[in-house]
Amino acid sequence: MDVMHCDDFLPNTRVEQLSFRLWPGRCTLCRQASDLPLDLCSVCLDDLPFNGAACQRCALPLGHDTTVCGECLVKSPPFARVHAALRYEQDAQTLVTRLKFERNLVAGRLLARLVAGTLQRTYGDTPLPERLLPVPLSATRLLRRGHNQAAVIARALHRELGIPVLHDAVRRIRHTAPQTGQTRAARLRNLRGAFAIRRQPPLVPIAIVDDVMTTGTTVRTVARLLLAAGVPEVHVWVAARTPSLP
Ligand SMILES: [Zn+2]
Ligand SMILES: [Zn+2]
Repeated sequence: MDVMHCDDFLPNTRVEQLSFRLWPGRCTLCRQASDLPLDLCSVCLDDLPFNGAACQRCALPLGHDTTVCGECLVKSPPFARVHAALRYEQDAQTLVTRLKFERNLVAGRLLARLVAGTLQRTYGDTPLPERLLPVPLSATRLLRRGHNQAAVIARALHRELGIPVLHDAVRRIRHTAPQTGQTRAARLRNLRGAFAIRRQPPLVPIAIVDDVMTTGTTVRTVARLLLAAGVPEVHVWVAARTPSLP
């Protein structure tokens, strides 16, 4: 594990620590009994693709220590910074798939813990955003899937960090076609007008929360809406970031 230490991911409340002592966790990935007070064993934790060297603005994995990627240099994104715990590959894909399509809430709690445990890498001593805003699903998709994976992660982050969650500041007006396999222009067309402010958000720094960030068209759209509503600074927190633009 690059710069991470397993202590960063251990439960931070006594009750939870005690609960793991009484009922040892099972590793969400290899299904073996976990040797850590975590739903993950130390071997699988070591193998996770942590997003170490990445763009300081958009968290695009760079594989070297350049601070800002070419795209962010050319056009400044509407968010102050993106924090991504993992690169979206290997076991990170497995965890996200379990949360998203199998409604595995243990995977959601684990992803939130990985996001919280790596914040220091992105923020150091600078202040964290003051509200969390999960990317909303359309009513149709929520009905079909039964849960919003971004909201699952945001709620778990709230329990970890105590940052309040904004559940109804932004709504998704229409159901958009899945973003994968589309060109960037098509993604943008697809998302235009897909979100709207439902309730005026507080004018404090807000972190948009999602499971995966690919090209970032979704979070850019929501970030622009929040900025237009007067929010002073928008951040993005995701469990995983895709390594390169498709
Ligand atoms: Zn394991
Ligand atoms: Zn960038």
